[in-house]
Amino acid sequence: MPASFDRLFQKCSETLQATTDLVFPPCCALCHARLFSSDPIVCDDCERQLVLLSAPSCDQCGMPLDMPDEDCTFCVGRTLHFVRAQAVLEFNQPVQTLIHLLKYRDRRSVGRFLGHRIGKIVVHESWFSHIDRIVPVPLHAVRRRERGYNQAEEIARGLAFCTHIPVDAGALLRRHSTRSQTRLSVDERRTNVRNVFGVSTGRHFKNARIALVDDVYTTGATLDECAAGTGGRRRRC
Ligand SMILES: [Zn+2]
Ligand SMILES: [Zn+2]
Repeated sequence: MPASFDRLFQKCSETLQATTDLVFPPCCALCHARLFSSDPIVCDDCERQLVLLSAPSCDQCGMPLDMPDEDCTFCVGRTLHFVRAQAVLEFNQPVQTLIHLLKYRDRRSVGRFLGHRIGKIVVHESWFSHIDRIVPVPLHAVRRRERGYNQAEEIARGLAFCTHIPVDAGALLRRHSTRSQTRLSVDERRTNVRNVFGVSTGRHFKNARIALVDDVYTTGATLDECAAGTGGRRRRC
């Protein structure tokens, strides 16, 4: 693209954005207060309600613990295929609302925002420095077509923007459509997603250090099956 045309295109985009902001001023995704920039998508007051999880948690499965050095009753005796799991934000009401907007109200920018927010935290974690690829948990092709995008991929892209680690969005595939995990027990969740994930043709994960990204982390059943799908090591806890 010639430089002059590039400048003209940029100028037109800025003018269009300014006009859009005048007619539809950007507002906070949570409280609808007026924002003076479309980035970030929540106001300062609402952003303060996004609480980072700081309670002790299991080094392996990420489940909260009462004391830092107590044994984790959730993963002891289980076989897991990932090295570490970490939930970053408390699933409180504001976060639930943001996830709802992301999944059911076509607000892809919420995913980028959450990914960026998470990236600012994990980029300082020692385990994250070894990651060479970010892979979102895939949706089934039919669900993706219905929604128009994968919410986990939007979070992954926000995370990548912040950490400069590439996203491999098509690395995994979901072989079958599964029912929502929301109302299922721990064992039902595992059964629901068993052998659902596989590696896309032409992708290889040998020796790769992958950060799998999903929108909500509850029991880890989905992430564990994804890790199993990539050939992740089986670890007896
Ligand atoms: Zn707000
Ligand atoms: Zn654990």
